[in-house]
Amino acid sequence: MPGVRSSTSNRNRTICDPSLPRAGMLIAFDFDGTLSDSEMTVLLGEEAGVADEIDDITERAMNDELSYAESLYARAELLDGLESSAVDAAFNRVALRPGSADVIEALSEAGHHVAILTGGFEQGVERALETEGVSVDTVVANRLPARNGTLTGDAEGPLIEGTKDDALADLADEVGVSMDDTVAIGDGANDLPMLEVAGLAVGYEPKPAVEPHCDTVVASMAELLDLLEAKAVL
Ligand SMILES: [Mg+2]
Repeated sequence: MPGVRSSTSNRNRTICDPSLPRAGMLIAFDFDGTLSDSEMTVLLGEEAGVADEIDDITERAMNDELSYAESLYARAELLDGLESSAVDAAFNRVALRPGSADVIEALSEAGHHVAILTGGFEQGVERALETEGVSVDTVVANRLPARNGTLTGDAEGPLIEGTKDDALADLADEVGVSMDDTVAIGDGANDLPMLEVAGLAVGYEPKPAVEPHCDTVVASMAELLDLLEAKAVL
């Protein structure tokens, strides 16, 4: 960086001024319950007529009463045999919450690497982003495999046994960002690992088990925008 060669240049002082926005950070969002106010497995469960059972398992997992892997496999099993048209219908209903697209756009425009790290599913995330006409730099998500046009009842992907702290650290390494320059935003127990290692841990209406581990908590995307401005991320 030419501006940092001379300690007397204005540019150097500017770079070190903590009140000015920093570019090139890594911002990692959870999806269900954070960027979206729905839960993908519940939407799928509604199509399969098992929404209540799935909701119950999800709640227990998000409150850290059940391991995430156990809960995801149990939910996938309840979806065994669901037809592709119903899976499609569920994914078409996945939506970003109001203001999410604006936050993603503002972060991208500011030069940050925006990532979604979710135990939810690629297709649902992609559908929701497409609908809003926004994109992110990286999506790390799981998949529900299908055979002969129906779900197999299994689940696969990097964030079942794998945890979001490793996913965040790997991504930070890949994009060349130090962990101090990472921000994690999430709501559930499966976000705890990434909230614990991120430079800034933001709870989005976090579950009771999660809140004590957050540096700060927000209850809307407008509040998140304000926070990111206050922290000189934007
Ligand atoms: Mg969540």
